[in-house]
Amino acid sequence: MSDKALEVLHNTFGFTAFRGQQEPVIRRVLAGGDALVLMPTGGGKSLCYQVPALIRPGTAVVVSPLIALMEDQVRSLNQLGVRVGCLNSAMPVQDQMQTEEDLVRGELDLLYVAPERLLMPRMMAILEQITVALFAIDEAHCVSQWGHDFRPEYLQLAVLGQRFPGVPRVALTATADRRTRKEIIERLALNQAESFVGSFDRPNIFYRISQKRQAKQQLHAFILKDHPGESGIVYCISRKKVEELSEWLNNHGIRALPYHAGMSPETRSRNQHLFHNEEGLIMVATVAFGMGVDKPDVRFVAHMDLPRSIEAYYQETGRAGRDGLPATAWLAYGLQDVIILGQMLSQSSADVSVRNVEKQKLESMLAFCEISGCRRQALLAYFDEALDEPCGHCDLCAEPVVTWDATDAARKALSNVYRTGQRYGVTHLVDVLMGRENARVKQLGHGQLSTFGIGRDLSQKQWRSVYRQLVARGFLNVIEEHGGLQLSGTSRPLLRGDEVLMLRRDRYEVQEARETRDS
Ligand code: ADP
Ligand code: ZN
Repeated sequence: MSDKALEVLHNTFGFTAFRGQQEPVIRRVLAGGDALVLMPTGGGKSLCYQVPALIRPGTAVVVSPLIALMEDQVRSLNQLGVRVGCLNSAMPVQDQMQTEEDLVRGELDLLYVAPERLLMPRMMAILEQITVALFAIDEAHCVSQWGHDFRPEYLQLAVLGQRFPGVPRVALTATADRRTRKEIIERLALNQAESFVGSFDRPNIFYRISQKRQAKQQLHAFILKDHPGESGIVYCISRKKVEELSEWLNNHGIRALPYHAGMSPETRSRNQHLFHNEEGLIMVATVAFGMGVDKPDVRFVAHMDLPRSIEAYYQETGRAGRDGLPATAWLAYGLQDVIILGQMLSQSSADVSVRNVEKQKLESMLAFCEISGCRRQALLAYFDEALDEPCGHCDLCAEPVVTWDATDAARKALSNVYRTGQRYGVTHLVDVLMGRENARVKQLGHGQLSTFGIGRDLSQKQWRSVYRQLVARGFLNVIEEHGGLQLSGTSRPLLRGDEVLMLRRDRYEVQEARETRDS
């Protein structure tokens, strides 16, 4: 490592040693090469470009999508005595002019700039006059169409390579599965880039995923038991649910604020400010509350609905415990979530290929919920990272799941889907299996089917659990438009009885069984 880099680390930033992949990244950039840096939130991405920025001649240009994020960085660098400026369209024109002047006079080591501002012809012309030390493209996953952080301006950043040949470019992100990584490299045209992947493990986060019954009560119990009086974020799928839940929590003695994109900017920023500055507040939010949440002592992140992908789950839960102290990622999900997300997908205007990828991502997320091994191993495996031993710090390590031979039950459940014509939802399917002669069953004549009443040996909850797991394992598909269930290609051997199927017993069933036994 060049002594210069260590010197900057000590003298400017006051740190003793580089962390993880920082050193190799910095070496690469100092040598003029491109790099893709993947590190989890809190992993120390900023230093990867800030140190070379102070060593290479000229000004480092940092593209950042969020004004709040930019301002934070500028403030803290200012305090360290670094010559830094920022440009975004929310600033007074006067200040923008001043920054541009500083830039042209070579008085800035770093310039933070919003992508649309950078891409203005005037700005590009200025940059061509000065010496650019490097380009850092923060939150590089914004270039990916699959994620909900997609920013069209990011696509145009590919021109930087052509307009500024020889200037190293560093793309940084905390979220990227293999597909997104490839996309970042392609779309930013980082052809020669070397990838640096830090460990994505967040050892202080305890992962817990439960079946959804009475979600609000479950959340309430979780907060009171594990995190009373502490700060947390609760994600909900819709604005309406956000409003309802935050009101409900307040009515039940837990201080909560809502946050979603339908609220006025003033209310949003007030709530965000309160959340950051007060202790023990809970933010109930849609995913609009996300990037740039930089509160170190968030003690838990709860999901009331299934996230769209493992990446989204990882990123959202990653906002817990940034201070390294114990934190919990909590999720309650049910089959209904899959149906709702499926319907949202079917209504999206995106083209078929995009929707298929989204569907696959959702399926991976669902499968992740239903695994019986270690959550952390599965989560890290998704990011191509191997963890040799089960972590001992997730729900499944702490309380291993009980499985049961569901071969016969699965055959009944699948054949029932087939007999009823592969178009009904779980509620009706379970009614038929359990032999319930309600109005719908009568009207459809399903009382005459061979599967009518063959499932009286299991409870309604158990049948719902069977169907949920059959969907999660891909034996059944959810029809997007109306949530009915359909056999998939892989269900045949199971239906014929050629395959043994072990399913998980739902945690609450186990608890209930225990409770009944104890009483
Ligand atoms: P990211 O952008 O990856 O989320 P940051 O760059 O904000 O992470 O760094 C997270 C925290 O870790 C910051 O408080 C930063 O000062 C600290 N940090 C980064 N690198 C080091 C290091 N080498 N030694 C000590 N602290 C570091
Ligand atoms: Zn584990």
